[in-house]
Amino acid sequence: MIVTLQSKTTAAPSVPLARLCHWPEGRPFALFLSHDVDQIHDRELFRLLADANHIRRRLTSSEPGSMGLAGLRMARSIFQPKPAQKDFETLLAIEGRHGFRSTFFLLHDKYWARQGGRYSLQCCEIQNIGRMILDAGSELGVHGGYYHFNNSALYHESLEAVGSAFGVRPCGIRNHLLRFSYPETWRAQAAAEFAYDATYGLPGELGPRGGWPFPFQTCDANTGEFLNLIELPMTVMDATLFRHLRLGGEAALEKAWQAVAGVIGVGGLVSLLWHNNYFNEPEYWDWQMVYEELLNRLAPLKPWCATGAEINAWWRAKAAVTIRTSSGADGIIKIEIHSPQAIEDLVLEIHSTNKLQIPSSNAWMESNDHGARIHFQRLLAGEVVNLEIAASR
Ligand SMILES: [Zn+2]
Repeated sequence: MIVTLQSKTTAAPSVPLARLCHWPEGRPFALFLSHDVDQIHDRELFRLLADANHIRRRLTSSEPGSMGLAGLRMARSIFQPKPAQKDFETLLAIEGRHGFRSTFFLLHDKYWARQGGRYSLQCCEIQNIGRMILDAGSELGVHGGYYHFNNSALYHESLEAVGSAFGVRPCGIRNHLLRFSYPETWRAQAAAEFAYDATYGLPGELGPRGGWPFPFQTCDANTGEFLNLIELPMTVMDATLFRHLRLGGEAALEKAWQAVAGVIGVGGLVSLLWHNNYFNEPEYWDWQMVYEELLNRLAPLKPWCATGAEINAWWRAKAAVTIRTSSGADGIIKIEIHSPQAIEDLVLEIHSTNKLQIPSSNAWMESNDHGARIHFQRLLAGEVVNLEIAASR
């Protein structure tokens, strides 16, 4: 939020006085890492069909890849399948190296169909994987909505199924194959009691759909109604690079980084989707390489990396914060910050070189060339904080 102060003595344009930083601790941008868990079993009919299709596209339409490695992959999955948890261990280790956590959307839809669920949420493999994910501080969400597309009752059934299988309350969803229609998808997801969606992206395009790289509250423009559902727009999906754009290796990395850098440049939300089943695969080595390298480049930039649930909760709390400014006859400018919901690590940026008074022991100030940043470690629900800026230094 930007609050402007009109000058009373000149016709100078409004100047920004105070604004909330987009992210906790005033971090320069946020990072949302996510994985759609379409498949966990290596020896599986639909996975073999996908590999056969990959070979066909390699032959007929120049999809990048190696025929030899693709054949080996198929043979391995039949005769010596990978243990189901292996790719998840790899993924969590790659993210854990940087202290990152992520969200895994578990597929729940019509069982054993081409675009449906390919594992039971009760099978011991996914049970172990789910526990491993939760123990790492990562999140479980719902992936589905292909056969259950835009059906709120069936979406809710998926929410309950994932929730009861792992003893959690999922609050996020992403539709399989990014299947989406406006406004029906958002309406059905909100009605099914999801708090956020992460479907908003175009399979064939990099960068946030529509160009908006921040979370936003969804709405139905036909009725003018805002929905109780936050959207976390996608920046890069692995399949966009390697399947749709048919890039490989370094070219894929650089294209992905271009899209990511655009979001970093405006301090937005970088959202990456990488599928678990392309890790530890010589045939798909660059899928893993690009993910690892993106994380290597992102980590030194100190983003706020959080799960979808955490981003959703923080963004909602921040969106509810109001700032009111007033100036007295003595020239002192008063700033009132009201936080209807509890929020941690909120940072207010003040553009003024005059002396600032901060009353709260719960806040600390960091000066910079333009003014100061005030960090609130925690604001309670309903808390009001008053700041004063003196008339001169
Ligand atoms: Zn999927």
